[in-house]
Amino acid sequence: MKRNFMPVILVTAIVATSCFGTSCQDKKNLTRLTDTSESAAISSYLESSVSTETPTPTETPTPTETPTPTSTPTPSPSPTPVPEYVEPIITGGPVWYNGYVDPRSVRAEVVSNPEDIAVLVNKYYTTTAEYVPELTLAKYSAGQKLRPEAAEAWEKMHDACLSEIGEDLYLISGYRDWATQTYSFNNAIPRRGLDKAVCKNAYPGRSEHPLGLALDINIKSDPEIRDNFVYTKAGKWVLEHGHEYGFIWRYPADYGHITGYGVEGWHFRYVGVEVATEMYDNNIMTLEEYYGKPQLLPDDYNE
Ligand SMILES: [Zn+2]
Repeated sequence: MKRNFMPVILVTAIVATSCFGTSCQDKKNLTRLTDTSESAAISSYLESSVSTETPTPTETPTPTETPTPTSTPTPSPSPTPVPEYVEPIITGGPVWYNGYVDPRSVRAEVVSNPEDIAVLVNKYYTTTAEYVPELTLAKYSAGQKLRPEAAEAWEKMHDACLSEIGEDLYLISGYRDWATQTYSFNNAIPRRGLDKAVCKNAYPGRSEHPLGLALDINIKSDPEIRDNFVYTKAGKWVLEHGHEYGFIWRYPADYGHITGYGVEGWHFRYVGVEVATEMYDNNIMTLEEYYGKPQLLPDDYNE
């Protein structure tokens, strides 16, 4: 034990001497050298250990978990509004009478834009009883009301017609509320028969009159609705110039298979100058064709 102890003391003494023989700065450098070499060794070890551990890319399959974000974007485009529908009260499919469908037997989509002056309303597109537009008294009528835009356009058209050809246009029927329209349809069935009623009378909600944008017109000296109005001097003028004021003839002859209603020589609709002029210029006769939504016909349709 004693013999082994001596060399250890000797070595310690030599190291201590060599240490004292160097400056403080040198010692620091020495320490630094040791540190850097050590850290280099550690880092090289780490590197090697990392590089050997690099097979961790096998852990990269985590990207397989990323497909989850692809599933999350899908719910975002889903806010496409689902239209509200009025279900038929006569079930078993559409019931047709001489080429005209009973509106009570078809499913109608509730329009989301009843305020749009060019909104399409027919047997397949309906308003609700809750919808009441802003209304104003219309000139050249017996207390009829219209939406302000339509009333203003009506006045302009009336004045132009009077000054150009001397015909005094007259508004027989403008806005009709839900109750009046319901009475009109229900009363028409026993009065004129179901086949005529579904051809000429609009079911509540499927009529343009509750929009305040429909006008049944003639001339003041004959304040009755007439099928031949469009063939009179005044009617011909309205057909030729109505679009300049935003009006279209809504139910032309021979278009019942598209509009769902028989010819009505007296019924005009305000859609605004832009749409009316576009239809006039392109010879588009119905609002259904303008929107590319003609009435759906059964396979055995023949009229
Ligand atoms: Zn009408």
